[in-house]
Order: sequence, then structure tokens, then C-alpha cells
Amino acid sequence: MASKLPEQGLPKEEVLEQLRALSGQDVHWREHRAFGLVYHHSDAHTELVQEAHNLFLSTNGLNPMAFKSLHRMEHDVVRIAAALLHGTDATVGTMSSGGSESILLAMLAYRQHARSHRKRIRHPEVVLPESAHAAFYKAGEYFDIKMVSVPLQQDYRADVDAMAARINRNTIALVGSAPCYPYGVMDPITEIAALGLKHGLPVHVDACLGGFLLPFVERLTPEERIAEIPPFDFRVPGVTSISADLHKYGYAAKGASVILYSDMAYLRHQFSLSTDWCGGIYASPTLAGTRPGGAIAAAWAALHSMGEAGYVANARAAMETAKAYINGINAITELEVLGRPPVTVVAYGGREPELGAYAVGDQLEARGWHVDRLQRPESLHMILNPGHLQVADIYLAELREAVDYVKAHPDSAFEGSAPMYGLIAKAPLRRLVKKQVLGIIEQMHCASDETGNISLSAESGEGGESAEASAIAPLPPLVLKAMRAKARLNRLFRRA
Ligand SMILES: *Cc1c(COP(=O)(O)O)cnc(C)c1O
Repeated sequence: MASKLPEQGLPKEEVLEQLRALSGQDVHWREHRAFGLVYHHSDAHTELVQEAHNLFLSTNGLNPMAFKSLHRMEHDVVRIAAALLHGTDATVGTMSSGGSESILLAMLAYRQHARSHRKRIRHPEVVLPESAHAAFYKAGEYFDIKMVSVPLQQDYRADVDAMAARINRNTIALVGSAPCYPYGVMDPITEIAALGLKHGLPVHVDACLGGFLLPFVERLTPEERIAEIPPFDFRVPGVTSISADLHKYGYAAKGASVILYSDMAYLRHQFSLSTDWCGGIYASPTLAGTRPGGAIAAAWAALHSMGEAGYVANARAAMETAKAYINGINAITELEVLGRPPVTVVAYGGREPELGAYAVGDQLEARGWHVDRLQRPESLHMILNPGHLQVADIYLAELREAVDYVKAHPDSAFEGSAPMYGLIAKAPLRRLVKKQVLGIIEQMHCASDETGNISLSAESGEGGESAEASAIAPLPPLVLKAMRAKARLNRLFRRA
């Protein structure tokens, strides 16, 4: 299929047929083979969300006077989120296109706030735990804010003393996650917020994952939960903003998140206003110009259709699912779950470093699972939804098989994509990796039709080379040889 505008438009059925064929190349999320990327509640719910989206497909939230409906719906969604996260009458916010935009907006607002209130700051800095989402580092690049990344405690939660030590005259905000994406653990928000109060600094809580899950987990009985949820929202004095994704555990359509602030004094700095433009006075509350109304309506529909009872029941099922996976993984003595994740995000790796998690990941992929990898430490990552309970037994059985295979074939750590991921994680190669990955991204966006053939993940059986893997393909032979030799030496000495 060439990337070309057809001279004559194609018939509807043919267009749809081509789309269906394209979607056949995608990860098999409907069969619960992916853990992350897709948050599916039920087919009936998806249908409703689709219908709501379609109803407002052509509308534009850019002009709230023209689309009073969207303005009203956004207001409702923000108020609902504020109530769930224990805001006050002073709590305000907007919707955005996703977690990254919510985070970008908060970082922008704090930079602008500092510019107008703390004129001596030349080079703004934000202090954040190393587990904070990549979107914060993106915000740092976009808005020229230095992101001061602080190592974690042993249990993968933010180290608040270490954060305190990095605060200086240029610091404009602190960050914590509830929970963080990589390990799914809750940062000690109460302590981070107290630190913020002590230094007069705003504190952002990234609840992109937890914002529409934790409030409902809190309503479960202790037996239904995995662990008690420590306070993380506006109940905690010192918390000044929270990002929460509707398109994750809110089960809205993609393109929906909220960013909330404790006070208009912060939100106002997120707004952009051009009064001199020849096109007229142009005000925009978020990064976008045109704001797709479908995403707003779909989020409104999701909240109203699920209702509190629906979300609580979902949280109950999600906890049951997470328990099944956590207990199942821990029952495999060669593996261990990292930290103590209290909800649905779980990372695990080998209890001993000799059991390479990436090699286990390759084996899982060979069995048809879509695998996510973390790089510190070498581990696999999953985000669970209730649907995953249906495949828990088979996943855990195949995980057992994968571990046995890797134990029986120690060299599997040097085959498939495992060594590539291992290499990428090595700090000294970081700059080289960055250069190579940039090259791949450029290639993916180049004019050649070949761009369509690059596969982003090492999908099972398809023989597709992963972007990350091919990104460092030019260097392996020597390095691989050295790694292999080193691992063999390690094994020899351990045996001796
Ligand atoms: C998903 C996520 C984000 C980014 O959200 P997007 O919607 O992917 O832009 C940020 N923080 C956390 C904790 C997340 O899970």
C-alpha cells in the first residue's frame, strides 16, 4: 500500500477494509496480551464512549462561547476530579490531551509563577525522584527547566532527605508520584509536601495512573485491598497540583486528562493570551489550539456511565487481578516483584542477577505476550486491568516456562533482543544509544515509504527487529563478545 492520495476517493467499504487490515498488525490487546497502552473496561462501555465521542466529533473546545456544551462538560469533569481528589472550593483546573500535557502544563505554570514572583531566578530547577515520568524531562527540555533527578530509596520510593539536599535558590517546585510508572509504588507525598511547605515551594503530585483508581481503592475493605493507600491528594497540606488521566483508569477515550491546582494563583500561569495578534485576541488555556470536543464528551460520558459504584467495582476487580499476578510472580522463587506496589502496576526481575529478566522477556514474547522492559534494574513491567484476570493462569504458567528455559539456557541472555536491552541500560553507552535512537526516530519520520515497515517492538514470531534493538545494531559484535566473556568469567568464578 503506497502512501499516496488516491486520485479518486475510495468507496467507504474499501477504506474501512484497509483500516481493519492495518489494525491487524497491532498488539493483541483484546486478547489481554498487552499490559499497558490500552485500558479496556468492557465492550459495552467502549461502545458508549465511542458514541459520545462521535456525537461531538466535529466540535472544538477552543471557543467555549461557541461550544457551551464542551465548556459545561469540562467544568463537570474538573469538578468531579477535584471532589474525588479532595480539593476545596478553591481547587481549579482544566482538561488536557493526556498525562504528558497535564505535566507539561504544571511545569510551565510553576515556571511562569516563579518568573512573576521570584525575579531573581535565572535558571529554574525542579527537584524530582528519578522514577518520575519521562514527561517531566520533556517539560525540562521544552521549557528550559533543569530537572534535578534524585535517586530513590531501597524500596523504590522517593528519598525525601535526598530531595531536600538538592533544593537551592533556583528551585521552583517539587514532584512526587502516586504511584510512579516504573515500579508502581507510592512516593511519600506527605513528606514531600511538608518539604514544599517548609521551603515555600509548590508540590506537584503525578497521579496520572492513580488519579481515577486510588480514590476507589480507598473505598474497598482492607481484605479487598493489597495495601492501605497513603494520603496522596489535596488532603495533604502542601500539595498544590495533581495530574490525573481520564484515558487510563477513568476509561475515557484517548486524549483526556485533568490538571488540577489548589488555587487560581497557579492555574492562571498556565494560560496563554495574545492580545496583539492581527487575527484577534487569542486566549488558550492549554497547549493545544483546537481542542477536540470528542475527547471531552467521551470523558464526561465515561464518568457518568461508570458512576462511583462502577469505579469501585472496577477497583475491586483490579485489586483481585493485581493480587493474582503479584502472588503468582512471587511464587516463582527465581523472580521477585520490585518494591511493594499497592495497586496495579508491577515490575519484576530475577531474584539473582544471573537470571536475566530480558531473556525471560524474550521467552514471553516468543509465547505471544507483549512485554515492557525497565532498564534500572533489569526488569519487566506490567500495568494490569481486570480483563487480565482471565489470562493470569496461562501467563503465570508461561512465565514459569520462560524462567525454566532461561535457567536451562544461560546463553539466552546473549540471544534475541536481551543483549540489546542489556546494552542500552549500560550508562557508558548512553550517549551512543541516544544518537542511534534519534537516528531511528528520524528514519521513522522520513519521506520513504519504507518507514512504514519499522516495527517498534520485538513482536513475537514476526521476526520484526525492535527499534531499540536495531538502534544499536552497528555496535554489538565487539561489545557483545566482551559482555559474553565477562558473564562467562563471572559464572566460572561463582562456581569455583
Ligand atoms: C501515563 C503516565 C504519564 C503520561 O501520560 P500520557 O497520557 O501517556 O501522556 C505520566 N505519568 C504517569 C505516572 C503515567 O502513568
